[in-house]
Amino acid sequence: MNSGFDDDNDSISRRKFLVDSTALATAASVLSGVALAQAHQAGYRPLSDKSKSDPGPTNVPLDQQNPSSAVPPETDAGSVPVFKYPFSLAHKRLYDGGWSREVTVRELPVSKSIAGVDMRLTAGGIRELHWHAAAEWAFMLYGSARITAIDAKGKSFVADVKEGDLWYFPTGLPHSIQGLSPDGAEFLLVFDDGSFSEYATVLLSEWMAHTPREILAKNFGAPSQALRKMRSQELFIFQSEIPPPLAADQRAAGGALGPSDLDFAFRLSEQPISQRTKGGEVRIVDASMFKVSTTIAAAIVTLHPGGMRELHWHPNADEWQYYISGKGRMTVFATGARARTADFQTGDVGYVQQTLPHYIENTGETDLKFLEIFKTSFYQDLALSEWLSHTPPELVMAHLNIDKTTLEAIPKDKLVIVPR
Ligand code: MN
Ligand code: MN
Repeated sequence: MNSGFDDDNDSISRRKFLVDSTALATAASVLSGVALAQAHQAGYRPLSDKSKSDPGPTNVPLDQQNPSSAVPPETDAGSVPVFKYPFSLAHKRLYDGGWSREVTVRELPVSKSIAGVDMRLTAGGIRELHWHAAAEWAFMLYGSARITAIDAKGKSFVADVKEGDLWYFPTGLPHSIQGLSPDGAEFLLVFDDGSFSEYATVLLSEWMAHTPREILAKNFGAPSQALRKMRSQELFIFQSEIPPPLAADQRAAGGALGPSDLDFAFRLSEQPISQRTKGGEVRIVDASMFKVSTTIAAAIVTLHPGGMRELHWHPNADEWQYYISGKGRMTVFATGARARTADFQTGDVGYVQQTLPHYIENTGETDLKFLEIFKTSFYQDLALSEWLSHTPPELVMAHLNIDKTTLEAIPKDKLVIVPR
């Protein structure tokens, strides 16, 4: 049915005409007239491989990473705003001592409630003392670091964190991060404001540089001469020495006040798993166990090969995602019969607006691990299966046109991850 097609190079319009007629011919040969009519009625377009082919220029590695964009599932429809941005495309600020890059509403316009920063510090490298208007939630991706802060009473907090640990610094509280031996750290910072930018933080160095020296001298009760070597430019990230042992730093910073009563760090590995099935496991961390984290809740999800985060939605917040490892795909269903599927892999950011249904499926051969982050004090989700299994059965069957056996097979309890 496609004889001569491959040799036809007369013109693009001629080729397109042939592609269309080939598709129709293929569809007609596969489907009966009735089936074709039903498929069209359901909005599905039976397409031949010829129709899906892309003989002109294309970015092959990107297409291979994004098969759901190259050839969307037939259920995708309409224009759902872009909900994926890879950190690999973000601008990287490089310093002696480390680097950082951010994904905000500038990069991902849909991400209005949360912004993220990926940061690397060498051993001894310091993210300088600072604070900001947004609250900061963090996940340690690699290595180890020392974090410092003071609480609202002025009491000090100094702790060491390692891979998998979290921290949270509330709005306006000053803090710092420093990489430890042997190879520093990399971590993900999450801010409860999509418009946040790490360029908009109060830095100790800049504050000092823009305050008259005689005012500083008066404030410190020191002669101006003693301040003559102070810097006149920002540090942001800079290389320094490995800090002293933790206990020494804690004692020196605590002084007469002693340490803060608050714990700004959270050891995720000590938190029991919230739900485990054959398909994977999830740990949920919100203010009910991580007390200081009053504006950010999180789920740390691992999907085994073949596992799927079940069809669900979140009534109380947008979801910001960070993909730690593995490969997956997510479809976001939006109002007005729109749906879009995107593929994700290590280092990508995903986003789902509050209340929109979605699933995430592991499409790789290794575990898919990712973070779900919400701007709220408490985690909340609803699953399709728990909705349908807790609604009168006749009502559900009238909607879905399924029999009782099928309805009864739907899980009665929320699995979070399937298969059971
Ligand atoms: Mn910060
Ligand atoms: Mn979700």
